[in-house]
Amino acid sequence: MRPSGLLHLGNYFGALQNWVKLQDEHECYYAIVDWHALTTDYEDTSRLQEYILNMAVDWIAAGIIPEKSTIFIQSSVKEHAELHLLLSMIAPLGWLLRVPTYKEQMKEIKGKDLHTYGFLGYPVLQAADILVYKAHFVPVGEDQLHHLELTREIVRRFEFFYGGSIFPEPEALLTSAPKLPGTDGRKMSKSYNNAIYLSDPSETMRKKIMTMMTDPARKRRNDPGNPDICPVFAFHKVISSPDRISEIDRECRLAGIGCTDCKNYLFTRLEERFAPFVEKRNSLVQNKKIVEEILEDGEKRARLVAQRTMQDVREVMKI
Ligand code: SF4
Repeated sequence: MRPSGLLHLGNYFGALQNWVKLQDEHECYYAIVDWHALTTDYEDTSRLQEYILNMAVDWIAAGIIPEKSTIFIQSSVKEHAELHLLLSMIAPLGWLLRVPTYKEQMKEIKGKDLHTYGFLGYPVLQAADILVYKAHFVPVGEDQLHHLELTREIVRRFEFFYGGSIFPEPEALLTSAPKLPGTDGRKMSKSYNNAIYLSDPSETMRKKIMTMMTDPARKRRNDPGNPDICPVFAFHKVISSPDRISEIDRECRLAGIGCTDCKNYLFTRLEERFAPFVEKRNSLVQNKKIVEEILEDGEKRARLVAQRTMQDVREVMKI
């Protein structure tokens, strides 16, 4: 995950929640990929360290267990950079130019010059992040499948040139994670200023929810609403009980429930759900030394594996 800002509920329900579950079935490596953050946010790095530490705090508070999973900062394991460099020698330019998100993000991300070598090459860095641990699976959403396919192609090309069967072709662990809209109905994103952050104090979270967009056609309390197009309902679908979801669905259409009550239910539910998270987060924030030690320990564990991989790589490449 890129430490390019504070974690929001979209990140939690879209990825983190699933990562917590994966720990029961797999040996997991979770990296705070600060070099990836630089591919788009290279101009201003003033808050990078703060975001990194906050990300680690949020992960641990959300249930990533350091004794079970390896949590570390990408830039602290320099082997990622070495493998990235070596893979970039064999990655054809045409493959990178064809990555769909490359063109999309060029268009979408405004106010930043992304005509850089680093931005074009970020899928190769991603391949290095995966392959340096000889990962068998990568948890991804549909939109990331193309990146993973590129990694698999790089594995095949590497094998064709140098042999050695070093890298398994990583497979996707596809998750049907819900995509939460932001408070204005667009995709939740810090750049749209519509995000609800895991670290938002309760009062801030309440205010954001109470000012959330609803069905725009429902202007008065007596107007029937359409929950299918309402961002508040999208949140309910992720966090409320099945009974409550059906009740809101029905009552909204009959104008039996007002939007204020609907939002109050949502806030209460979010507060309940995240109470253990907030407690754990607060205690970690008071004791950041623990978090730093967890990251140092993760770094050592990750580096051991990465060093072994790089020995294999150098050997087959005869460097
Ligand atoms: Fe949205 Fe709830 Fe209002 Fe219906 S009642 S429009 S679901 S906020």
